[in-house]
Amino acid sequence: MRMLKQRRLVMEFGRKLVTGGLTTGSGGNLSLLDRSQGLLAITPSGVDYFDITPGQVVLVDLEGRQVDGPGRPSSELGFHLALYRDRPEATAVVHTHSPYATTLACLHWELPPAHYLVGFAGAKVPLAPYHTYGTPELAQAVAQTMRGYNAALLANHGLVAVGNTLPRAFAVAEEVEFAARVYYQAKTVGQPKILSSKQMEEVLAKFADYGRQ
Ligand code: 13P
Ligand code: ZN
Repeated sequence: MRMLKQRRLVMEFGRKLVTGGLTTGSGGNLSLLDRSQGLLAITPSGVDYFDITPGQVVLVDLEGRQVDGPGRPSSELGFHLALYRDRPEATAVVHTHSPYATTLACLHWELPPAHYLVGFAGAKVPLAPYHTYGTPELAQAVAQTMRGYNAALLANHGLVAVGNTLPRAFAVAEEVEFAARVYYQAKTVGQPKILSSKQMEEVLAKFADYGRQ
């Protein structure tokens, strides 16, 4: 099977989206790009994550042409492609409907750096304007909003994260959800203190080699 390793990873991380509380049912989607082959492995549209087999993971080229897989690719293929075109370093995209990030997105709020782990996304997590799911308008808005950031909230919808590996893109989504939850909780009892741009610059500089062994 073509790109079996990548398809397995897409399947495994799809299940982690559900077990990690980052999405429900078939909500959200994810992809992994092999730049040397110019192909991405992406979740099929509307299939429960626990029913997805490696063979059902769809292979698509960078022009969006389906190369393998029996069903339709995720309806958000457009923003996955737009992000890969826009960001030469990106090889994975994770889209979730995680509850706290989505709550802020439904308020049309950005996520400010009340917690330093917002640094996984950048100096803040910006908000992409609302467009119907699966549209070229949403794809363009996501790519534009994410310039300079590794994640964005999608108004009235959810969250998108990118990374140079699939575990990294997944970690960005997880940490943004954590920071969104902490911000929401802090807001319910007081006024969270937001880190300054200088404090976030220091965090981002340290993150450059965080986790390097
Ligand atoms: P797909 O099942 O088509 O990937 O759609 C889920 C989703 O989250 C749409 O935004
Ligand atoms: Zn979605």
